[in-house]
Amino acid sequence: MPLTAQNHPLAPLDAADADMLSRVQQLVQDTIGPKANAVSRDDAFAWETFRTLADSGVIATAFPRELGGSEASMLLRVRIIEEIARVCSTAASIVTGTDLSSRPIIAGGSPELCARIVPPLARGETQSAFALTEPGAGSDLARLGTTATRDTGGYRLTGVKKFITRATVAELFVVVASLADGPGGSRGLTAFLVPRDAEGLSVSPIIPKLGWHGVPIAEVRLDGVPVPASHRLGEEGQGMALAQDTLVRARVGHAAIALGRMTGALQLAAQYAGHRQVSGKAVGEHQGIQWMLADMAARIEAARCLVYSAAQRYDRKDAETSIHASIAKMHSTDLCMRVVVDCAQLFGGNGYLDAYPIERFLRDAKMNQIGEGTSEVHKNLIGRYIMKTASAMSRHPCLDFEPDLFGAQ
Ligand SMILES: Cc1cc2nc3c(=O)[nH]c(=O)nc-3n(C[C@H](O)[C@H](O)[C@H](O)COP(=O)(O)OP(=O)(O)OC[C@H]3O[C@@H](n4cnc5c(N)ncnc54)[C@H](O)[C@@H]3O)c2cc1C
Repeated sequence: MPLTAQNHPLAPLDAADADMLSRVQQLVQDTIGPKANAVSRDDAFAWETFRTLADSGVIATAFPRELGGSEASMLLRVRIIEEIARVCSTAASIVTGTDLSSRPIIAGGSPELCARIVPPLARGETQSAFALTEPGAGSDLARLGTTATRDTGGYRLTGVKKFITRATVAELFVVVASLADGPGGSRGLTAFLVPRDAEGLSVSPIIPKLGWHGVPIAEVRLDGVPVPASHRLGEEGQGMALAQDTLVRARVGHAAIALGRMTGALQLAAQYAGHRQVSGKAVGEHQGIQWMLADMAARIEAARCLVYSAAQRYDRKDAETSIHASIAKMHSTDLCMRVVVDCAQLFGGNGYLDAYPIERFLRDAKMNQIGEGTSEVHKNLIGRYIMKTASAMSRHPCLDFEPDLFGAQ
């Protein structure tokens, strides 16, 4: 059924997972959906939404069982994120943002550090933020300017991080810095866990933005912040390797948010078009409108298959998960942008009004094309992968002419 993912053949869930999903669906219907418009009006952290997600066990799905979580499969997480994003981008991004900001701690923290820090995160008693981007370095991480210099018993961090989600509320920051004298003299990127109250760390006021209200961003300044060696996450110089799993999970998460949002937008537009009368019949009875709806439904369903299969690859630890996460992220987020624009069009002038939900879907959609690698960055990754794979494949049987016909000589 193109309008919902119910009983999708690519997303078989066992009884426990199906039960969790149906509890989330109820929450979406009763609580998250009805409050979503109000949440989107104010760019202060959406505490009530966060508490709802923590109390219902959704936050815990990002964490390992031995650290107090319920460790959901990626497939279940994708289904949960999709359901929530169908009504509220803020709530969905709280779910994905928890993952982004906590996985480097789980992956690189010592057992002692994890045992102390992670269970309160899993219970939603504390929050962490992921601080990678800087004013001069987003897509191009080679330009990262935040430095870590060695100091007695640890390091000192200096630099500025920009666009940091939850910076205004997080108790902990995962900061990626470039080691001034890394292994072999390299400037290896290294991740550190920095408490909010560390000397020399300051957070700017909220930076106003277009959408994603309820999950504010701010700038984080580090002015010679002392960090003990026990708070280094992973080995020196391994910051990006450590972040790799985090980024793959975050990319699948962005793809799932976009999938949920465009599904929700199509549901809204189709229901509106079923009621609104123009030229003697409902908007949705005009053939031109039905063609628009059909195009959107077919493309959304194709995106759904991509997102679910990327999630399944992640769960199976497939060697090609990363590139499929890029494909799903690029395709789903770019398509979502087009779908919400078309759905807003179906609302006519009402689509432009605050009173109708489609205007916030439109404002929120842009972010998914930017966060966790812009669409252009993913196109680069995919393009390079295609060229590498093509050159490693045996020659296509229809390309059986001599090398000089390639014009290569
Ligand atoms: C609401 C919001 C929340 C965020 N939350 C966080 C967070 O919690 N933590 C964090 O660390 N960061 C966060 N970010 C930052 C986000 O990840 C970056 O904005 C993103 O990676 C893009 O980097 P940039 O803004 O520096 O753009 P730039 O890298 O300056 O890119 C500018 C343009 O150039 C294009 N471009 C770049 N390189 C290439 C290329 N090689 N070929 C072709 N085109 C290219 C880009 O696609 C883009 O269109 C957030 C951003 C926003 C808007």
